[in-house]
Amino acid sequence: MTETATLTRSTAKIEHFDVLIVGAGISGVGCAYHLTRQCPGTRFAVLDALDGFGGTWKTHTYPGIRSDSDLYTFGYRFKPWVGPPIATAGEILTYMGEVIEENHLADHIRYKHKIASASWSSQDNLWTIEARRTDTGEAVWFTANFLLMCQGYYRHEQGYTPEWEGMESFKGRIVHPQTWPADLDYKGKKVVVIGSGATAATVVPAIAGDCEHVTVLQRSPTYFIPGVNQNELADTLRELDIDETRINEIVRKKILHDQDVFTRRARSEPEVVKAELLAGVRAFLGPDYDVDKHFTPTYRPWRQRIAFVPDGDIFKGLVAGKASMVTDEIDRFTEKGILLKSGQTLEADIIVTATGFNINVLGDIDFTIDDKPLDFAQSVTHRGMMFTGVPNMVWVFGYFRASWTLRADLIADFVCRMLNHMKAKGAKRVTVALRPEDHNMPLLLWLDTENFNPGYMLRGMHLLPKRGDKPEWQHSQDYWKEKDELPVIDLDDAAFVYA
Ligand SMILES: Cc1cc2nc3c(=O)[nH]c(=O)nc-3n(C[C@H](O)[C@H](O)[C@H](O)COP(=O)(O)OP(=O)(O)OC[C@H]3O[C@@H](n4cnc5c(N)ncnc54)[C@H](O)[C@@H]3O)c2cc1C
Repeated sequence: MTETATLTRSTAKIEHFDVLIVGAGISGVGCAYHLTRQCPGTRFAVLDALDGFGGTWKTHTYPGIRSDSDLYTFGYRFKPWVGPPIATAGEILTYMGEVIEENHLADHIRYKHKIASASWSSQDNLWTIEARRTDTGEAVWFTANFLLMCQGYYRHEQGYTPEWEGMESFKGRIVHPQTWPADLDYKGKKVVVIGSGATAATVVPAIAGDCEHVTVLQRSPTYFIPGVNQNELADTLRELDIDETRINEIVRKKILHDQDVFTRRARSEPEVVKAELLAGVRAFLGPDYDVDKHFTPTYRPWRQRIAFVPDGDIFKGLVAGKASMVTDEIDRFTEKGILLKSGQTLEADIIVTATGFNINVLGDIDFTIDDKPLDFAQSVTHRGMMFTGVPNMVWVFGYFRASWTLRADLIADFVCRMLNHMKAKGAKRVTVALRPEDHNMPLLLWLDTENFNPGYMLRGMHLLPKRGDKPEWQHSQDYWKEKDELPVIDLDDAAFVYA
């Protein structure tokens, strides 16, 4: 710390909390709820750089923004979801707002607080956190016994846009969906959307009706699951007057059961699953459409998240001629659009780069442990929640294939159990450490890329901690195992070192 910073800090008021939660997205708000229920009396605050709650659902404002997994499982375990399974960002924010209001969480949340640094002192067993008010620029200081990192996994300020030759010569507008300009007028315009993941699948049907034409330009195809945006079981149970809490419990079980079967089949009989997925697409596009070229990925199903397409809306745009698919590679940008490697030119007034995220490790916060900068990539993860060499800190990193929030609920339970355990033991510090039997364990990359390999994870993998080859030293991304394993983790296992 510089001398000026020390001087500034010495005169500043420092607030203390037992637990400081970083981020007021779906994870941070959920953790705040669980703390109030499972660790009553805990002094905690939630800090967020944004000017409101919601995280992902506040940052993304592009047309059509919606979830791609169902809200029965993306919603919290403790608050039934009563709307259609696929929800808009607005509906998710309303739901989160109700959680905050019903549980009196608002007083705990401080918006417009961007955390810049977090320093751990083993002498004091304390984190010191420096945040900057985004409205006044003022530096604000906190101390906390425990840090609960709910900052998500990507940088909110800016999405990922590759550098293409000639970008500066393009006379139209280039827009990333993560920073969609409120004044963007796409009516009657020619739009090219680069990318064919969940974001493109959402934006394209939302704007196609107003544009002259939308072209989806993809380097390689993606899997989609078209289906109706309703849950028949939930509707039936509602007709039978079953209460919403019960409905939620049953419908979650059914969805999770079906997903489990699907995931296993995607591994055991990938070709059959692939054929089923493609048949679903063909049903919308008809026999003459070149599904092989535009909708048949080379990877097996589930290696990347599969976007659910409510009512097949993107396919309807293709059939109606308002949108078209081009599977090709970009040679360079030109004044008027994009020149493709095949020699074809795509003219555009607006180019939307739906090209993904920049992985963000620990909220871009400068971490130091006893005055030494933390090299996060050198630590080993315990269940994707805790990290060797980093005391009193848990990261809520959800699932990619199942709904994120399922894990946020499970990790919040774990943290509460850990905090209560520490209190009972009189411990001030817990750090995970490799046990003697772990010392020859191979250390691998954070994710098994054979199992799951989206571009943003591959780009950022070198920044993430290492994984071992035992269940306790990895984030398995397997909800169906973790739902039974996480609640019974032995907190007195030798991997947890208390002081
Ligand atoms: C468009 C889109 C759609 C998605 N749809 C789904 C879906 O349908 N189902 C699903 O399971 N997952 C989905 N995901 C993944 C999604 O990000 C997670 O499911 C979930 O919303 C993440 O919640 P979170 O609270 O952990 O993080 P985030 O939503 O990323 O929120 C993190 C918060 O932390 C704050 N923060 C970060 N760093 C700092 C700092 N240094 N100081 C202060 N505050 C900080 C941010 O401002 C932000 O508000 C989607 C992601 C995107 C981008």
